[in-house]
Amino acid sequence: MPELPEVEALAEFLREHAVGHAVAGVDVVAFQALKTVDPPVTALGGLTVTGAGRHGKFLDLDCDGLHLVTHLARGGWLRWRDDLTGARPARPKALAVRIRLTPGEDGRAPGFELTEAGTQKRLAVHVVRNPDEVPGIASLGPDPLADDFTVETLASIVGGSRTQIKGLLRDQKVIAGIGNAYSDEVLHVARMSPFKIAATLTDDQVADLHTAIVTTLRDAVGRARGLAAKDLKSEKKSGLRVHGRTGQACPVCGDTIREVSFADSSLQYCPTCQTGGKPLADRRLSRLLK
Ligand SMILES: [Zn+2]
Repeated sequence: MPELPEVEALAEFLREHAVGHAVAGVDVVAFQALKTVDPPVTALGGLTVTGAGRHGKFLDLDCDGLHLVTHLARGGWLRWRDDLTGARPARPKALAVRIRLTPGEDGRAPGFELTEAGTQKRLAVHVVRNPDEVPGIASLGPDPLADDFTVETLASIVGGSRTQIKGLLRDQKVIAGIGNAYSDEVLHVARMSPFKIAATLTDDQVADLHTAIVTTLRDAVGRARGLAAKDLKSEKKSGLRVHGRTGQACPVCGDTIREVSFADSSLQYCPTCQTGGKPLADRRLSRLLK
């Protein structure tokens, strides 16, 4: 799933490549992806793309004051096409929405396709006059890359929260943009157990966690910056230290990275770096061993 760094990079990519073009048309192929009816998606036709930005994990294409807001969800992706003239979809079965732009000076008519792999169809596209009209945006917590996301901001978030820190970091209403992958990474950098209860963090641990959040996300944005949309996924994978690396060696201490599985996701961590060398209970695994 694309998280803050990838969506930030996609927004930058669109600022560079889409801004200045007008929208020639929007083809909605997967109707369940379109979450709004007013204004209609056809209202985007003829408008000039004036900007692209990010709200948490939401991608926001500003078309002269009308916003095409996309949440890529778990299996969604954006595929940029330099020339859509007569082009067949790159992945017809996964195609959800296609945005066609007017030709540039080179005569090519670019655009992009929003695709979604898998059977869970969660990709969501909204056409709104104000991004805050999207419920998931209106309820977002502070952005961890904003200047006002300080140690004090984080201290007020974790203080009094009886939630496990992993869950807290992933909660979009608490902090915007961090998902399953980067919460694993942040907690590895902060040398903290994912099951630690937020309110039990000391002042020093809050400060460490703040540094870990900001540096991890900044580094990831830095690596993703300037990459073509199609290269972002592999860059994300190769840049991760523990997430998705069960059984591999921790790049810091060499211990074996372990995982805890849940119904529809799993987390990865390094016992030596994060839990005093003690493996966390994996309910699925213990059930299998019974
Ligand atoms: Zn380690």
